[in-house]
Amino acid sequence: MGRALIIGAGGVASVVVHKCCQNSEVFEEICIASRTKSKCDALKEKLDDGKTIITTAQVNADNVSELVQLINHYKPDIVINVALPYQDLTIMDACLETKTNYMDTANYEPLDTAKFEYKWQWDYKEKFEKAGITALLGSGFDPGVTGVFSAYAAKHYFDEINEIDILDCNGGDHGYPFATNFNPEINIREVSAKGSYWEDGKWIETEPMEIKRVYNFDEVGEKDMYLLHHEELESLAINIKGIKRIRFFMTFGPSYLAHLKCLENVGMTSIKPIEYEGKMIVPLQFLKAVLPDPASLGPRTKGKTNIGCIFIGKKDGKEKTYYVYNICDHQECYKEVGSQAVSYTTGVPAMIGAMMVMTGKWDRPGVYNIEEFDPDPFMEALNKWGLPWKESFRPMLVD
Ligand code: NDP
Repeated sequence: MGRALIIGAGGVASVVVHKCCQNSEVFEEICIASRTKSKCDALKEKLDDGKTIITTAQVNADNVSELVQLINHYKPDIVINVALPYQDLTIMDACLETKTNYMDTANYEPLDTAKFEYKWQWDYKEKFEKAGITALLGSGFDPGVTGVFSAYAAKHYFDEINEIDILDCNGGDHGYPFATNFNPEINIREVSAKGSYWEDGKWIETEPMEIKRVYNFDEVGEKDMYLLHHEELESLAINIKGIKRIRFFMTFGPSYLAHLKCLENVGMTSIKPIEYEGKMIVPLQFLKAVLPDPASLGPRTKGKTNIGCIFIGKKDGKEKTYYVYNICDHQECYKEVGSQAVSYTTGVPAMIGAMMVMTGKWDRPGVYNIEEFDPDPFMEALNKWGLPWKESFRPMLVD
């Protein structure tokens, strides 16, 4: 079918590469390109005996001309951006210049401000339309599958959806007192920010971790979960008809929260550069350097994740509820691809999103969030490629 250029060689990229290689009919050739080429070569070495032809390259994805040179040389059908959110715009610029399709799993965030919103990427809409190429934004799990679940619920079960609660539960235990399951810098920026949710046409802001609920998750059990701001709230509030309230909750254990509070209190989560021994350093980047690499958590993490969406809305004039979720086992993921479930649940939808664009199932020039496309082929692919989903029509609701 075609070739994909994968940018990044971290925890999520590793799963994307494994999954592309399992799907060699679509991904006949892939190029893994990242800042540290040795990480790309290590991935190639693990997977080089399959049908997909793998090449590697070194690239600084902050530099548009380097990216353009690489894309012009490799000529991919799509660029899969699984580097960091800071690189979204430079990679989109390079895709525009070379007229190449684009896909990512997280929205743009400026390096010096912990503010993630879609404005910057939505501003590319007209340029992508004119160039005749597609940018698929947020094809991980959340954002990603949560948007597909929402489009699926809207298409098949509701005339209008009034409320969505997205519940992200990680019931896994890696045995460390404190570690993050994906890039620590991005993770800590996200969870230490103020919370917010959308209600009656406006954002309601909360203090970080101010709103706590307890939920009994299928196959995981009872967990404390906290309301966070999360990027898909912004696009779903616009794209899903009839929305009055949308919230996002994530589970955290007491040890994670106690460590986070302490690190915040001593200034270690700050992104303001400070001078240390004559050199400027960013405390959060230093903290990342001493924390366990999320890609190394695979062999130690036991337990399951359970991520899904609860919908409340109307069908034929009657109120209706619907819950759709995926359960993923950390150890099973490790057995299959050598990664824990958080990388797995992000990398599988990234491969599927790229497949949707490459096979022409999702083929519309412009910049789109995932819920703007037909959810059916993606839902089918989730079952096939390792993230089967479950449904309930009488879920426990969140107050
Ligand atoms: P990692 O830190 O493990 O990997 C990031 C990779 O990007 C590294 O290989 C890094 O290179 C590379 N990179 C960073 N800067 C550059 C640059 N300037 N040029 C080239 N390569 C660069 O992160 P994860 O794999 O955990 O996360 C990847 C992405 O997935 C993030 O954007 C994250 O927000 C997103 N994500 C999305 C989720 C979802 O459900 N939607 C869930 C989890 C993550 P080096 O090795 O040299 O540092």
